[in-house]
Amino acid sequence: MNEERRDESGRHTQVDRRTVLRTTAFAAGGVVLGGIMGISTPGGASAAAGPKVYTRSDWGARSPRSKIEVMGRGPTHIVVHHTATANVSDLSTSRAAALSRAIQRHHMDNNGWSDIGQQLTISRGGYVMEGRAQSLRAIGAGHHVVGAHTANHNGHTIGIENEGTYTSVAPPRDLVDSLVDTCAWLCLVYRLDPDEAIVGHRDFNTTGCPGDKLYAMLPRLRKKVGSRVQEQLRHLSAAADTQPAPEELPTYPAVPGAERVADFYHGPTVGDRDTSP
Ligand SMILES: [Zn+2]
Repeated sequence: MNEERRDESGRHTQVDRRTVLRTTAFAAGGVVLGGIMGISTPGGASAAAGPKVYTRSDWGARSPRSKIEVMGRGPTHIVVHHTATANVSDLSTSRAAALSRAIQRHHMDNNGWSDIGQQLTISRGGYVMEGRAQSLRAIGAGHHVVGAHTANHNGHTIGIENEGTYTSVAPPRDLVDSLVDTCAWLCLVYRLDPDEAIVGHRDFNTTGCPGDKLYAMLPRLRKKVGSRVQEQLRHLSAAADTQPAPEELPTYPAVPGAERVADFYHGPTVGDRDTSP
């Protein structure tokens, strides 16, 4: 895909602004974002929750070797990768943690990078792991941790590494489900249009990544993520809508034509049948 078009398209990756503004206006105190971020909030906004993401301490990450660069704005694109590792049958959390440690070791010790390159990793068991340090906090704040996963585009892309090699076989269902959840969460947080924002590594660099099979699934992924985002925005808009439906309105009793206007006067308050006002 043409890189300039991609860069151009970054400007068109906002979801309907009115919907966002309406929900955001209601969100004083972070109800909407809290819901999106999976933070439990009163009132059921948690229907917009993102996936459970295991933190770096969950998988035993090493500290980064140098300062992590965080940009005060979100990415324009979500880049789907495969890890180019074996399609293991171990779908456990401990395998997912071991994978993250192995990738970090490779990136730090063989590539000489400051830390693991990608911001998020999804195991074949569907476990979502935080990647580069501060990624979760940055996502929560709508910011961007600069990673190392897509050459010349790390300043504006967030990378998801999907465990396995998908040149000739498709990823397992658990992984795909988590990928949908993760992309929907990122699109909501960063207000990205899935059709524009979700790309494969090969859209930016000359590579087979994320494999023909996973790459072929991207149109479907964009569609699924789009429906999920719309569903969550509808839910949030409904929660934000303070206008009662017509059937919820009372029928109004008659009001006197020329009612007295004075401080503290608000109609009759004591009558003959009241004994001790
Ligand atoms: Zn890649």
